[in-house]
Amino acid sequence: MLHFSRVSTKFFIVLALSWFALAVIMAVVISIGVRNLGVASTKDDALLIARLLDEQLGTADFATHSFKNIEYPLQIAQTYNIESIELFNKNDLLDNPYAQKALAQKRDIVEIVEHLDGFLVRIHVPHLNKNGDVEGIMSVTVNAIAFRQKYMQIVLWMFVLILIFIALEILILRKIFAPYIAFYEDLCENILETDKGNFKKQLQTKLRDEVADIALLINTTNAKIDAIICNIESRIPSLMHYQKERYHNNPLVRIHEVINELVDVYQFKHLIEASSIRFMQQAFMQLFSRIGLPLVAFVESTDEQDRLIFPDDASQLRAYHQALHCANVHNQNEPFCPIVFHDSPAIWCTFCVARNVRWEFVFAMTKEQFNNVFPLLSNYFNISTSTIENRYLLDLLKANSQKDALTGLNNRAFLNEFSDNITSQAQRIELEYAVMMIDIDFFKRVNDSYGHNIGDNVLRHLALVFTKTIRTSDLAVRYGGEEFLILLLGCPQNDAIRVAQKIKNVFESQVFESDFGETFSCTLSIGIARFPHDANNMALAIKYADIALYAAKKSGRNQILCFETPMIPNDFNPLKVKG
Ligand code: GH3
Ligand code: MG
Ligand code: MG
Repeated sequence: MLHFSRVSTKFFIVLALSWFALAVIMAVVISIGVRNLGVASTKDDALLIARLLDEQLGTADFATHSFKNIEYPLQIAQTYNIESIELFNKNDLLDNPYAQKALAQKRDIVEIVEHLDGFLVRIHVPHLNKNGDVEGIMSVTVNAIAFRQKYMQIVLWMFVLILIFIALEILILRKIFAPYIAFYEDLCENILETDKGNFKKQLQTKLRDEVADIALLINTTNAKIDAIICNIESRIPSLMHYQKERYHNNPLVRIHEVINELVDVYQFKHLIEASSIRFMQQAFMQLFSRIGLPLVAFVESTDEQDRLIFPDDASQLRAYHQALHCANVHNQNEPFCPIVFHDSPAIWCTFCVARNVRWEFVFAMTKEQFNNVFPLLSNYFNISTSTIENRYLLDLLKANSQKDALTGLNNRAFLNEFSDNITSQAQRIELEYAVMMIDIDFFKRVNDSYGHNIGDNVLRHLALVFTKTIRTSDLAVRYGGEEFLILLLGCPQNDAIRVAQKIKNVFESQVFESDFGETFSCTLSIGIARFPHDANNMALAIKYADIALYAAKKSGRNQILCFETPMIPNDFNPLKVKG
């Protein structure tokens, strides 16, 4: 059984039907032609016989209605298949209209009598006497049945030959079409494969015509697409942690998903760039809720301390540490591990975001659930870590640039930034504060007598006295070489004097020792001014505290003086001090 695909089946059916229709038309035309030829040939035979017999007939023959010379006509009848030879007297009743016509017109009339199995040709010939009058009619009937059989055979043969021709033609065409059909099927399969993302399949054909060009074109295009896909996939790992199995099987869909993910990740990186650590942490918390990670705890962990970022409830830190201790998380080698947090199963995971800084998270989910989302989370962290680390470094750098290296106290750069914040805050909440300027008396002598290293020890010790004496909400600043500033927030004047006195006493009670075993101690001069009592901005308060200090120095050193208006030098204009 021949196998035709849909297009070729249609083609062959139409071809066969049209040939069949052609064969039928040809058979009809040939049949009519052959029949007409038969009629003409039979008519000639009948006429020839009629003419030959007519020569021998006389008037008497027509009178008796019989034919006298029977032997001779019988031979003719056998040869020419004569059915009958009849003679009619002109006086007889002639019921045959053809014979009547021959009698009336004095010429031969041909009559064709149709039968189911053939036809008869009857020719009516008028017999004329010497005067040219019709004496009778001779009707010669010739049977053409044999002729009909012959032409039926011809038509049948023609049909058989046409059918054989059609079958042969279909077989030959099938042979010619076979590689095209095979190519079409291969092409369909190829298209289905490319739809699945497989561009490696090559079209095969033995044809050397346009189809071969099409196959080459498709193969070249597919090879190019395949090479591009391979190239993209080979380069993705340089951008992200790439786990193929996380994405769709179809490489085109897979690349589409990866690109979308990369865009999300890089947009996120862009979002957190140039933002504060606090903002970054909030951005990550928003990300968790977007990708379906139920965060229950977020801790910023350094070598010095753990700081709870989420939830905003410091008491949770203890529960967090207990949970980690129970699960022994720090001895696990996995990047994340299951813990029990508040009696519920959860996942703990940590990401190192800067040198000595780790962000630790607890998510309320199972290990299996977290397994699926961990690679995506890693991608966000891998790409963002450098940004976060830079921010930590910048913050550290800024903190260091605002710290005095010798004493560890804040420096004037910090004070400038701090004063901007505190002034607006102080005005808003009507905060009062005292500014204390402290200077070591005759400090130059210490350096000169015992060396700078000993002088440094004295400075360090004084800084230690400050941090021990003042509250954590207060601020101690190394203002100049051996000049210090202390800001006592929310402190009335009497309290400020008490604090100054305490600092002075503690510092002065310290006995320093030189490298050569000499001992000495130092005294302090302190000036105090208050906001808003003395000055309406911090810069002016600092200036007035300095003026009070100068007054203390001027009037013998080793004492505490509060600012008073008469201390202001005549040439000093308070309006020139910018707040
Ligand atoms: P006065 O009682 O008037 O304040 O006299 P003084 O000697 O303390 O004041 P002066 O301003 O003349 O000298 C301050 C000295 O402080 C000069 C400088 O060598 C010293 N000094 C400044 N910074 C440092 C430092 O970081 N380490 C040491 N060892 N000395 C410093
Ligand atoms: Mg001094
Ligand atoms: Mg000084």
